[in-house]
Amino acid sequence: MIFPQKDQSKKSESFISNDEKQVVIGKGFDDTLSIDEQLREWLTGRMLLFDELPFPVEYIEQQIRLGFCTSYHGIERKGNHYICNRCKNTDLSLFSPFPCARCQKECVYCRSCLMMGRVSECTPLVTWSGLEISFSYPNSLHWKGGLSPSQKEASEKIINVIKNGGDLLLWAVCGAGKTEMLFEGIAHGLERGKRIAIATPRADVVLELTPRIKQAFPDVPVISLYGGSEDRHRFAPLVITTTHQLLRFERAFDVMIIDEVDAFPFSADEMLQKAAEKAKKKDGSLIFLTATPEEKWQRECISGKRNCVILPARYHRHRIPIPKFHWCGNWKGAIQKGRIPQSILVWFRKRLEMGKQAFIFFPEIQWMERALPLFQHYAPEIEAVHSEDPQRKEKVQKFREGNIPILLTTTILERGVTIPNIDVAVVGAESEIFTESALVQIAGRVGRSPQFPTGDITFFHYGKTRAMIRARNQLLRMNREARRKGLIDD
Ligand SMILES: [Zn+2]
Ligand SMILES: [Zn+2]
Repeated sequence: MIFPQKDQSKKSESFISNDEKQVVIGKGFDDTLSIDEQLREWLTGRMLLFDELPFPVEYIEQQIRLGFCTSYHGIERKGNHYICNRCKNTDLSLFSPFPCARCQKECVYCRSCLMMGRVSECTPLVTWSGLEISFSYPNSLHWKGGLSPSQKEASEKIINVIKNGGDLLLWAVCGAGKTEMLFEGIAHGLERGKRIAIATPRADVVLELTPRIKQAFPDVPVISLYGGSEDRHRFAPLVITTTHQLLRFERAFDVMIIDEVDAFPFSADEMLQKAAEKAKKKDGSLIFLTATPEEKWQRECISGKRNCVILPARYHRHRIPIPKFHWCGNWKGAIQKGRIPQSILVWFRKRLEMGKQAFIFFPEIQWMERALPLFQHYAPEIEAVHSEDPQRKEKVQKFREGNIPILLTTTILERGVTIPNIDVAVVGAESEIFTESALVQIAGRVGRSPQFPTGDITFFHYGKTRAMIRARNQLLRMNREARRKGLIDD
């Protein structure tokens, strides 16, 4: 169901009156825009269900007839195969039949992208096919900081890819200052009317990035998208979004930047990877940022098969602290008997005596919760935090303020949290959840601030794993490389 006719000469006469608009579009209604302009804001670069648009169905159908919008079947059948036009899923096992009220037949829906609302064979998806919104923001960057020579080199490669298209992997150690390296490239793109997305697997990273980007580009409209975001009806040249929300876009972005590309769920979810591909324009630029690329990408970078820039040093010119391995025996058995394994206890009590803050990572909530009272026996202010903890934010804030000496945590704090002066221990480092990438990120919490560039990282284990060894080797290699390039002083 594709309507090919296009009529760009249509005036912006309204299908419904201004009073009605308020009712239809609700609180977010911008009085300065006509309804046609509103529709264009909603739909430019997006692919949405009728239900996701706050306009009367008759109005959208009229716009389709006039050629301003195009509608597609949610799911297309090709012989024995299906393809979901929203998430590009083609895996037969992820399509299910159901008795459909809309078409009164047995209809097939896509389970792969179900969390964004159900798409079935008879569900139309709508895109904008009228004139595109054009813009240009010369001299938009107001950031006053400076870049180190190696950051500058990375920044130039980024500008180059934004100018000419293609892919780039920016492999930068935790604390290298990744975001700042993007600024000049973004400014360059905005000047030339390129629409830019910064996508990340995690909503808390979206929330953390947004104010920094807005501050650097104060005159450019910036929106941030995540489940429940208020910005979803707006058009902006600069979009900060979770990778999930990319499912709602189609050939929207000239530049797609994916931050923390190795983080869950993006790294494990083919649907999200396809969504990122779909949201980017065909000849657009694709930039991946990570401190811990997967093994295959690491090999491709080292052998020169992948266009990549490696930043092996932190901006403060100190080497990255290297994790120590410490065998702690059957730690689960010990906790079950109500005691902390001796080696962990010694480490922990030393931190308390020195008054140095620390994170202690656990592989599972249940073991962390069993261990908590054993630690609290020595200092009752000690707390534990995990992903379902409703007080997660408050506890991290209390820790930041120094009111919690030691915080037990699951892998939720492996990324994104920067505390100036801490040590880190991992209990049960042999567990599967502690992948190479997770362990490098955890080690990356230590020594980030120029005032406190060092610290202790100990992996307490009941048998060394390949992931532990690879993580340590990766960090050692980065330090060697940094020394060779003259990027560190110690
Ligand atoms: Zn789908
Ligand atoms: Zn149907």
